[in-house]
Amino acid sequence: MAYQTESVTMWFDRRLLVRSSPIHGYGTFAAEPIRAGEWLMSVHGGVVYTTEDWKTGKVQIAPEQYNETQIGDDLFVATPKSVYYYVNHSCDPTMVSHVAFRDIEAGEEITSDHAHAQAFPAFRIEPCTCGASNCRGKVTGDDWKLPELQERYRGHFSPYVEQLIREANAKKNG
Ligand SMILES: [Zn+2]
Repeated sequence: MAYQTESVTMWFDRRLLVRSSPIHGYGTFAAEPIRAGEWLMSVHGGVVYTTEDWKTGKVQIAPEQYNETQIGDDLFVATPKSVYYYVNHSCDPTMVSHVAFRDIEAGEEITSDHAHAQAFPAFRIEPCTCGASNCRGKVTGDDWKLPELQERYRGHFSPYVEQLIREANAKKNG
C-alpha cells in the first residue's frame, strides 16, 4: 500500500494553553472556565502509513515533530505535534473525544484517557502518574477491553477502537 498525505487541519479553542504539567512534561490547560460538552479541539489529516512503509523507509518523518495515532489494523497517521500532542493521560479525564467531559475550572489541566484511542499491544505507561483517585496504576494498549471503561466511554472511543470493540463483542456473542 502506498502512503498518502492528507491535508492537515487543526483547530484549538483559544482558552487552551500549553505549559509545564505535574503529570508529565508539558500539558494543555484551561486558561478560563470551560463547561461540560464544549468542543475543545479538532485534528484531521496527516501522513498515513503502514508498518511496512515505515520499516522500508518509504515514509520518513522526524519523530520529534510528529505524533502517531493508530487508525486501523496496521495503519497509522502522523500529525504535527501541537496543542493536541501535549494533552496528558488521566484515568479521570477532563476531555473525551475532544469534548469537555465535565466542567473544567480555570487553571485545570485538560486530560484524556489513552483507552479512547490506544490499542497498540506494546503501549504501556507504568506507573501512571495521573494522580486521579480512580487511577488504574498503569495504562496499556489493552485498556479499551475493560468492561467498566467500555461502559464509561461508550460512543466516545476513536473510530478504530469502536471497531475493535464491535469485533470483540461479535466474537463473544458468537
Ligand atoms: Zn492514572
